Amino acid sequence: MFIPYGNHQIDDDDINAVVDVLKNHFLTQGQKVPEFEQAIADYCQVSYCTAVNSGTSALHVACLALGVTKGDRVWTTPNTFVASANCALYCGATIDFVDIDPATRNISLPELTKKLTQAKLTNSLPKVLMAVHFAGLPCDMKAIKALSNEFGFKIVEDASHALGSFYNELPVGNCLYSDFTVLSFHPVKPITTAEGGALLTNNECLYKRSGLFAKHGVTRAPDLIEDQYKSQDDGAWYYQQIELGYNYRLSDLQAALGLTQLTKLDGFINKRRQLWQRYTEKLAHLPLVLPIEPNYAKSGWHIYVVEVTNHDRQHVFNQLIEQGIGVQVHYIPVHLQPYYQKLGFSVGDFPCAEAYYAGAITLPLFPHLTFEQQDYVIATMESILG
Ligand SMILES: *Cc1c(COP(=O)(O)O)cnc(C)c1O
Repeated sequence: MFIPYGNHQIDDDDINAVVDVLKNHFLTQGQKVPEFEQAIADYCQVSYCTAVNSGTSALHVACLALGVTKGDRVWTTPNTFVASANCALYCGATIDFVDIDPATRNISLPELTKKLTQAKLTNSLPKVLMAVHFAGLPCDMKAIKALSNEFGFKIVEDASHALGSFYNELPVGNCLYSDFTVLSFHPVKPITTAEGGALLTNNECLYKRSGLFAKHGVTRAPDLIEDQYKSQDDGAWYYQQIELGYNYRLSDLQAALGLTQLTKLDGFINKRRQLWQRYTEKLAHLPLVLPIEPNYAKSGWHIYVVEVTNHDRQHVFNQLIEQGIGVQVHYIPVHLQPYYQKLGFSVGDFPCAEAYYAGAITLPLFPHLTFEQQDYVIATMESILG
């Protein structure tokens, strides 16, 4: 028996929904994608949703719609998946990082404030801040929004981990404090469409811009059509390409899967929170740093990361793998990746993210992990660390 760190849950209703599309509906550009977009928007209490073929595509489109281009700066946290930073580079912008808060493992607000204050003096403020809700725990968005008002940057929430999480009693994705929120539906994420993602916003103009970039930059919308290029001979078939867009569409097969998955999200999250609570109670006596949940947040706990303090992390990691426990490490700080070091970043640039990484181990956590399996993980941790 091998217990992975994360795993999707596919039930008969998911399978039947996909088979129904295969038998009876359009495979792409049918009704399932708009239905899924509406269902996600309703769940997240946000005005607009555009479904796309990955979270990475959604991050890219968010940057494009906000006008990120050569000469612009985008800031994010080093404790994230590389895609949160890569999207800025796709647009020709430069990327920089802000160190983490060791307690929440999210971007540090004192560090952010300090760096913004310095950047203002040298006229090098970021155009966009990519706020990542690590492990599902929302960043303190009210505080980030206050800084955005003061320093004039746009906010994208990378909520790839955080569909089903709550900030101040309201669902992550409502974009009350951001221009866009990005979701991912990769199989380890809160719900899955195999590959997939979504882009949420309350801003109608940004919604239209992001739809364009996700669909070839081509439109039939009367309010977007550039009339001076249209002639009297152009009939009902007429469309225009007005931007250089991409084909980032989600298929209807995937949207159908997303729709059934979404009906089960609250159950998935309840189970994840139960598992989080059990780990936190039963690991408390061991020499570990455990994840915390500030009062403003109710995390969906996408992953459960412990930090080993007085043991060799590699030894603990290898022992767990040997005992059939599929641990992982989230994340190698992005600035330490060779590609980023070649851009000029070095070891020591973001010491809190590096110190966190040195001890981090992600334990198994997913909706159908049984309490017996979890107790085995806990007992194994006790025997290695005890
Ligand atoms: C998974 C993930 C992404 C990328 O999502 P994909 O759907 O795999 O492209 C981006 N950011 C974070 C924080 C993620 O965990």
